[in-house]
Amino acid sequence: MAEFDYVIVGGGAAGCVLANRLSENPANRVAVIELGGDRNAGRTIVKMPLAMVTFMAPALAFLGGPKFMSWFETEPEPGLQGRQIALPRGKGTGGSTNINGQIFIRGQREDFDHWRDLGNAGWGFADLLPYFRKLERFDLLADPKNGRGITLGGRPLFDQIDPKFHGTAGPLNVAQPRSINPMTEVYLKAAEQAEYPLTADFNGARQNGFGYYTFTQKGGERQTAEAAYLDPIRQRPNLTILTDTQATRVLVQDKRAVGVAWERDGHAGETRGREIILSAGSFVSPQLLLLSGIGPRRHLERLGIPLVHELPGVGENLQDHLDVTIEYRAKTTAPYGISWWALPRNVLHVLDWLFRRRGLFASTTAEGGAFLSTKRGVDRPDIQLFFCAAVGNTQNAAGFTGHGFLVHVCDLRPGSVGRLQLKSADPKEKPSIIYNFFRDNSTIDALREGIRIARRIINQRAFVPHLEREVSPGPEVESDGALEAFIRQTVGTLFHPVGTCSMGTTPEAVVDPASLRVHGMEGLRVIDASVMPSIVSANTVAATYCIAEKGADLVLGR
Ligand SMILES: Cc1cc2nc3c(=O)[nH]c(=O)nc-3n(C[C@H](O)[C@H](O)[C@H](O)COP(=O)(O)OP(=O)(O)OC[C@H]3O[C@@H](n4cnc5c(N)ncnc54)[C@H](O)[C@@H]3O)c2cc1C
Repeated sequence: MAEFDYVIVGGGAAGCVLANRLSENPANRVAVIELGGDRNAGRTIVKMPLAMVTFMAPALAFLGGPKFMSWFETEPEPGLQGRQIALPRGKGTGGSTNINGQIFIRGQREDFDHWRDLGNAGWGFADLLPYFRKLERFDLLADPKNGRGITLGGRPLFDQIDPKFHGTAGPLNVAQPRSINPMTEVYLKAAEQAEYPLTADFNGARQNGFGYYTFTQKGGERQTAEAAYLDPIRQRPNLTILTDTQATRVLVQDKRAVGVAWERDGHAGETRGREIILSAGSFVSPQLLLLSGIGPRRHLERLGIPLVHELPGVGENLQDHLDVTIEYRAKTTAPYGISWWALPRNVLHVLDWLFRRRGLFASTTAEGGAFLSTKRGVDRPDIQLFFCAAVGNTQNAAGFTGHGFLVHVCDLRPGSVGRLQLKSADPKEKPSIIYNFFRDNSTIDALREGIRIARRIINQRAFVPHLEREVSPGPEVESDGALEAFIRQTVGTLFHPVGTCSMGTTPEAVVDPASLRVHGMEGLRVIDASVMPSIVSANTVAATYCIAEKGADLVLGR
């Protein structure tokens, strides 16, 4: 008899949800196998929202960031003059929610209806809204005193929220920013001056407009998947968590998954289960399928991996968001930053964090944003703007000296489709990843128009007292050609890979939408961001949590 009913590979966003939901019934024996360490949610570098800027700053590695990171990179990208892009993923229980930007936005109704229309019955917006509500504790409605005082367009935010789009009793706390830098207010004022609409809720009826972001935070601290889903139930006797353990392949007998092979401290082992669920994220879930002989025949034959089941779509259909940054210097010290003039205020920020969990350290600096359409006559947003009230990029602490601000411009549906393949049959070797940016149907138009819109906002009256100059790309970079060159030189991803084990019913699909079972296999499912058939028009964690909540119901036959 198998040791466990369910063996979950990966304790990240999806893995923690599954560990919780599948072990609710004490009769189910559940194991989680996780590459990184355990009990991360209580560490300062994880729970302090601002600390995310240290994860990608090599000079600040001594603060402990590398412990929570796995690094991948793209092949030289032909559309980016051969540039390679570094791709971080989170590690340890909590996965990428230990290091991510904490922004919580679901995506557009059209994204999920598109999934449904591709042949994924049960995955339309109306089908998924109950799961979005189930997973969420929307702080502003659950405990209105926490958001007291936040206004938008002169009215309390609370009065502008439609409760039918929110849950108030789920495990994951979704909160308004605890502290709002005056520059974020200036940015929203400027949007009004440029005659753009404001929105109180990017997760409401429509996404369009400018507003404050909502965050996976509680009481001013980051709330990871571990904190929300694992810590409250980790004492369950039917739950086993194996950490610092790298799954290396799925064990299969006659097209039935029967266990997982793994390595820990140079020792090999196996965990047997009635069902194996891959939740190792969009890079490693397909990698494990390929290492187990499940994937495109020719690719596996070339690497000498015995074919277990031919499935051409494994590792294909890779999608991500594209992002460029405009940087501005300020002539006031209103933005966050380090300077002699800001010293007293920064001391207060430290105290504010220590005693009230507010201020700079409770912020990621990206407190506000926007969803807009760059196409005339089209209402559905195709870009997202992030306003950072500091020059320190949300993923880079290097720029905190001095005062300035950034606008990130993100292409929500870039159209480029990449793929992931193995370089060898060695599970320790990172896979080959290519995104094919700006090839085939993918253009730079949305990013170029997005930069122009962002500049229009920053050039409004509200910014006049603060704006010194645009530093990058610089006001002279204005023509179509110059902007295109800037985009190709600097564009990166927002670290939102999806699609490599896509659900669907066509021959290219990897999992069945009705069960998330791998087509043609027994006892094997994939449940994580990799099953999205197309990228959502928002940061990807909310949709991943939702997939895992629904996935748990599918596993349990509910
Ligand atoms: C820097 C960064 C910033 C981001 N910012 C945001 C944001 O602000 N908002 C947002 O919505 N999204 C953001 N994201 C994306 C979001 O975090 C992911 O979409 C989400 O976490 C995906 O969940 P997942 O369960 O698919 O994978 P993950 O959360 O990455 O979990 C995968 C888990 O599998 C484990 N694993 C990997 N290989 C193995 C193996 N061989 N054996 C065992 N375990 C293994 C990993 O260690 C990890 O714990 C960001 C991501 C990054 C990296």
